[in-house]
Amino acid sequence: MQLRWGRPDLAAYQTQPATPPASPTSPLTVSFLGVTTLLFDDGDSAVMTDGFFTRPSLARTLLTSLRSDPTRVEYALRRAGVGTLDAVVCGHSHYDHALDSAAVAQRTGAALVGGESTAQLGRGAQLPPGRIVTAAPGDALTFGAFTLTFIESEHSHPDRIRGVIDHAIAQPAPARAYKCGETWSILVEHEKSGHSALVHSSAGFRPGMLDGRRADVVYLAVGQLGHQPRDFIEQYWAETVTAVGARAVILTHWDDFFRPLTKPLRALPYAVDDLDAAMRVLTACAERDGVHLGLPALWSRTDPWAAR
Ligand SMILES: [Zn+2]
Repeated sequence: MQLRWGRPDLAAYQTQPATPPASPTSPLTVSFLGVTTLLFDDGDSAVMTDGFFTRPSLARTLLTSLRSDPTRVEYALRRAGVGTLDAVVCGHSHYDHALDSAAVAQRTGAALVGGESTAQLGRGAQLPPGRIVTAAPGDALTFGAFTLTFIESEHSHPDRIRGVIDHAIAQPAPARAYKCGETWSILVEHEKSGHSALVHSSAGFRPGMLDGRRADVVYLAVGQLGHQPRDFIEQYWAETVTAVGARAVILTHWDDFFRPLTKPLRALPYAVDDLDAAMRVLTACAERDGVHLGLPALWSRTDPWAAR
């Protein structure tokens, strides 16, 4: 493969119609907080996916053992307006999803929810056993006003840290200790508003895995998708967005997660991923199907169910 320098320019995608901002009457809001971290909040009850805020530099990630940075976690939670959470839920256990999940659970009183590998991270952080919840495929679990259904999926290709975490991991720990574990596609349902969203945090799928499921909105990961052939990207769209009948798709896992959240987001470099290539195919799918497609802005509270 030819190495290409530089990175995609996000400006081209930020001119697309934005996801509607939350209004005072929005019954449920969603905030994008980098990579695949999302805050679902109805004012009384809130859940967060992943909760990755430390974002260590590439050099630190390669050369040192990693630990959650309390200053960065605190800053992000404050800026996002998070007090307490009912759950922090991991899509899988790689460090760019789960490094801070236990720390976020500790600070917010949340349950840490995910597969058995995620539970090992909670044990390593000495979260009380009652606050560690292990999901099995097909489980529908209730946290506050939200029901979360765990559907087993596949990680994007290649999975650079394969396998399961089979013992409690205490920090600091090297990035390679954060093995993938189960990869989940998570259906988030909010009964009070009738709103639903699928949080699909890694760009892989199992054919038919979402048959019979419905979601109005999909938060769709595109990490590593741009290096896949067109057929794969089209099938990915069909197995996620089309399968659940979504009207709006918000893309995640495109930002350079080696930069702190205090700097503006930028795309991953072409050497790692190709957002432009993924966007060409996804934009065509969205136009064909009449689906809203957008890149989210950091921090802002949105109402994706109001998208037209
Ligand atoms: Zn991953």
